[in-house]
Amino acid sequence: MKYFSTRNSEYKVSAAEAIAKGLAPDGGLFVPSVIPTMSSNDIKQMCLLNYRERAAQIISMYMEEFSEDEINDFVKKAYGDNFDCREIAPLKILDDKTAVLELWHGPTCAFKDMALQILPHLLTASLKKCGEEREVCILVATSGDTGKAALEGFADVEGTKIHVFYPHNGVSDVQELQMTTQTGKNVGVTAVYGNFDDAQTGVKKIFGDREFADELSKRGYFLSSANSINWGRLLPQIVYYFSAYCDFVNSGKIHFGDVVNFAVPTGNFGDILACWYAKKMGLPVGKLICASNANNVLTDFFKTGTYDRNRTFHNTISPSMDILVSSNLERLLYSVTENDKQVAGYMKELSESGSYTVDDVVRFALATNFESGYCSDEDTKKTIAEMYTENGYLMDTHTAVAYKVMSDVRAKRMSTVPTVVVSTASPFKFCDSVLSALGEDSNAKGTELIERLSEKTGIDAPKPLAELDKRERRFSVSVEKEEMKKAVSDFLG
Ligand SMILES: *Cc1c(COP(=O)(O)O)cnc(C)c1O
Repeated sequence: MKYFSTRNSEYKVSAAEAIAKGLAPDGGLFVPSVIPTMSSNDIKQMCLLNYRERAAQIISMYMEEFSEDEINDFVKKAYGDNFDCREIAPLKILDDKTAVLELWHGPTCAFKDMALQILPHLLTASLKKCGEEREVCILVATSGDTGKAALEGFADVEGTKIHVFYPHNGVSDVQELQMTTQTGKNVGVTAVYGNFDDAQTGVKKIFGDREFADELSKRGYFLSSANSINWGRLLPQIVYYFSAYCDFVNSGKIHFGDVVNFAVPTGNFGDILACWYAKKMGLPVGKLICASNANNVLTDFFKTGTYDRNRTFHNTISPSMDILVSSNLERLLYSVTENDKQVAGYMKELSESGSYTVDDVVRFALATNFESGYCSDEDTKKTIAEMYTENGYLMDTHTAVAYKVMSDVRAKRMSTVPTVVVSTASPFKFCDSVLSALGEDSNAKGTELIERLSEKTGIDAPKPLAELDKRERRFSVSVEKEEMKKAVSDFLG
C-alpha cells in the first residue's frame, strides 16, 4: 500500500518513507491510498486477543513492507511492563451504556504514551529501510506533556538521540520534575527563558538552518521531529478504538455488532481522527463526538462549515487542548473529499487569511458522522465533582470535558447509544485543578499536591508520579532562546 500527500496525490511513498519523512515536501500530510477494511468476523475474532495482538494485527495492515516478526517485536517493546496494567488500555464500565477508555497507564500517565512508546521503533526501522545511515536526533519544543512522553519513548532507543526544550517557568512543577529527572544515555533537557512560543520558534529556526544541518550531517546526525502529524503517531492510535469495542462486547454490556459512539477530548485532532479511520475500516462506530474547551474552533467548524483561527486564545485547565490550529483536520478533509486540489486550496486560505469554508458536500458528510460541543472550565470542574461524588470515579480535566460534551449531546438528541468516553490523562497529572474541583484550594506545591489528592480520595497515585520526588534531578540548565542551537550542538558532542 502506498501513501500520498493530502495536497498532491501524485506524490506517492511507502509506509517507511512516510514515517521517515514525517511531512510531505508540499507541506501536506501523508495518508494511506486505501483504507484497509476488517470484516465483522475479523473483528469478532479480535475480541479473543490481547492488546498486543490487536495492535500487531492493525499495524500490519498499514505497513506491508514490514514482516510479522518485525511488527511483533515493535509491539512487544512498546506495550509491556512499562504500562501499569496488563490490559494496556483498560475499559472501565460506568453504567449500562457508558464506559471510559483509560489511555494513561503508560510511563508518563497521559495518552501520548500510546503512540510515543512505539513510534521510536517504527521510526528507526523505517529509517533503516530507507537507507538512512546517519543517527536521528529528535528535537521537541513542549508545553509539558508531549516532551515527557517523547523522552520516555526515545530514552535508550538505539540509533536515536532526543533533546527537549521547555519554557522556563512555563510548565507545572510536576511536569518540570518529570522531564528534569528523565533517565537515559541519549536524552537532553533544557529550559528556555521565554514562553512556549519562544521555545517552538527556536526549534523551528534550528530545523530551517541549512548550514547547521550540513554541519550535523558531517558529524553523522540529522534532525527530525516527533510531532503528531507523523503517520507513525496516528497509526498506533487506531488500535485502541478496536480494543475498546472488543472489551465493551466482552463486558457483556453491548452485543457484538451494536453501534457505539466515542467522545474524544480534542486538540490537534489526532486522537479523534484515529477513531474516524477505525470507523472507515469497519468498526461499528455511530457518532464521533468532538469535545473542546473554551478554544472551541472545532465546535464552530462542525456547526458552520467555517474554520476560523482568528480568535482569542484561552489558557484553560485542560491545557493539552489549548490549540487553535488542529493540524490533523487536514487528513479528515482529504478523507471526505478525496480531492488533493480542494484540500490544498483550504490550507492555502488557512495560511493566508486564517480561515476557510468547506463546501456543502463536505459539511453534510461531517454532519452525518460527527457531533461537537465545548465545555467551560467551570463546567469541567463541576463534572469532575459530580462524577466523583455520584459514581466514585475520579477523572482529569481533559476527560471531564469529553464527558460533559457527551452528556449534552445525549440530552439534546435523547440518545441511548452506548458511548465510550476517551480518557486522556491520569487525574494525578492535573492535581491542582482536580483538587480545586473537589473543593480543596490548598497552597501545596509540586509533589505535595499528588499526596494531597491521594489522601483526599484514597486513590493511589500512579507510581511514576508518586515516586517523582525520590528521583535524581539530572538537568538544570536554562538558556536564552538565541543559545538553543548551541545547546543542541553541545548535546550532540
Ligand atoms: C494531546 C492531548 C489531548 C489532545 O489530543 P489530540 O490528538 O491533540 O486531539 C487531549 N488530552 C490530553 C491529556 C493530551 O495530552
